[in-house]
Amino acid sequence: KSTTFFFALICLFSVEFANADKDHEKKKYTKGARWSHYLEKVDEAVAQYDDCSNEDCGCFTSVLDADLAVWENKGKITQKDVEAALPFGVHYQIFNHKLYRHKDCMFPFRCSGVEHFLLEQLPHLPDMEMVINVRDWPQTSRHREPLPVFSFSKVAAHHWDIMYPAWTFWEGGPAVWPIYPTGLGRWDLQRDIISKKAAEWPWDKKENKGFFRGSRTSYERDPLVLLSRKEPDLVDAQYTKNQAWKSEEDTLYAAPAEEVKLEDHCKYRYLYNFRGVAASFRLKHLFLCNSTVFHVGNEWLEFFYPALKPWVHYIPVSTKLTEGRDLFIFAKENQEVVKGIADRGRQFIVDHLRMDDITCYWSKLLQRYAQLLSYKPQKKSGYILIKPGS
Ligand code: UDP
Repeated sequence: KSTTFFFALICLFSVEFANADKDHEKKKYTKGARWSHYLEKVDEAVAQYDDCSNEDCGCFTSVLDADLAVWENKGKITQKDVEAALPFGVHYQIFNHKLYRHKDCMFPFRCSGVEHFLLEQLPHLPDMEMVINVRDWPQTSRHREPLPVFSFSKVAAHHWDIMYPAWTFWEGGPAVWPIYPTGLGRWDLQRDIISKKAAEWPWDKKENKGFFRGSRTSYERDPLVLLSRKEPDLVDAQYTKNQAWKSEEDTLYAAPAEEVKLEDHCKYRYLYNFRGVAASFRLKHLFLCNSTVFHVGNEWLEFFYPALKPWVHYIPVSTKLTEGRDLFIFAKENQEVVKGIADRGRQFIVDHLRMDDITCYWSKLLQRYAQLLSYKPQKKSGYILIKPGS
């Protein structure tokens, strides 16, 4: 009797489970059908992704290979190449493990940010020289002969520049009044500050909307600001002033918004990144919030961008932003999926963009570049000796 009773009970539960399962499948199917094009991209990207290794800057070696390829194919960098590059950046020389620089640097804090990393490498470097561009804009066009100029950002298809980790990892980042009057600040410190704030804003507590604050350094930001004006429940995207602000035209005919610190971006689930004049320093910080990063455009790079994969670590958005609204709805209706992207994005930056990884990249870059120099550099007169803290 009792066996029959248990058998009946099991059958009943099985039917219930099967119905619940069907309901779940039905819901998944209906949602899945609408969003299958995005969901498939996530599934495919995640399935294909293998996490990289920090050993020997493994996550970023392909960038170094690509940037140095033109010189490695030629087999050398000649004195003539470096002399021709001189007008496009700040000239540094290393002799007997000491660092020298041309006395002029247009952006002293940027030079100082670069020098922090160069000084760390001195014990391991031979006599050598290099031209480091500390402007935002890359300097060498692929339509002309290559020149060995180091820049923090470029479009790989357009510029020969050799990417280096930006000064702003240490100092010289953009000064934003009143939140960062002396610049964005050291990356190692920002990692702690933003991570602590992220812990105060777990996913369930975050506002379920998009967020962007920044100045109009590129018109590519306009469509999001306009969408925000039309649908403020979907996204809060507003222009702030920068030092070049002259009139409301520079904030798309609206009063400038108040600046918002990077850690306070963590209050929102979806954070937008755009290029500015070149790549924006914003990107790496956004990941730390454990919010989903929406990254617009794929042309402007810093050395670590290619290691971050679309749909694995961030949601890619086209520069025209035609799918911008759609993506917000997708995110709102697929919370588990986009939270997964947020988690993986944050984990990548925490694991692979540590100060040690920046140092590793500088080290590899300078060692490989030095090996390509085909001559013994001559010490220039009138250059200043750069010392730690000078
Ligand atoms: N920024 C910020 N809060 C603001 C405005 C700007 O944190 O309210 C940061 C932004 O993240 C970026 C830097 O200040 O790292 C400069 O931002 P802006 O939009 O002016 O220029 P971008 O460098 O992005 O082109």
